[in-house]
Amino acid sequence: MGPKEIKILQRKIERIKKDLCDLGDLRPGKLSEQFNVCGKSTCRCKDKDNPQKHGPYQQISYTHRGKSKTEFVKNENLKDVEQQIENYVKFKELTSEWVDTALELMRVKKEIDKNADLHQRRCQRKSAKA
Ligand SMILES: [Zn+2]
Repeated sequence: MGPKEIKILQRKIERIKKDLCDLGDLRPGKLSEQFNVCGKSTCRCKDKDNPQKHGPYQQISYTHRGKSKTEFVKNENLKDVEQQIENYVKFKELTSEWVDTALELMRVKKEIDKNADLHQRRCQRKSAKA
């Protein structure tokens, strides 16, 4: 463990930063299918024996800053939204990885400092004897 390990960890953080920069649009959430009934009393969705609800519709639900939201997603936007959700997952992974690496970096630096202190104390003891 030493300066070489620090370099490796620093390089890893630089790569994570670059990956974060390259990330496209993102949004949190989960897609789900939804079936609806409409307002028409004679509609097939209100049929007594065999009701056929409208749909499926895609909707996205998410919680952000303590607020939950659900929005409908148009079919033509579905591909984009799926990509945005994927990017969000990647974003979370990258930031966790960054924090992991930052903590590891601090640990290694502390270890090196401790060893340097020990070395210094040993040297001082030696020079005191001499
Ligand atoms: Zn209907």
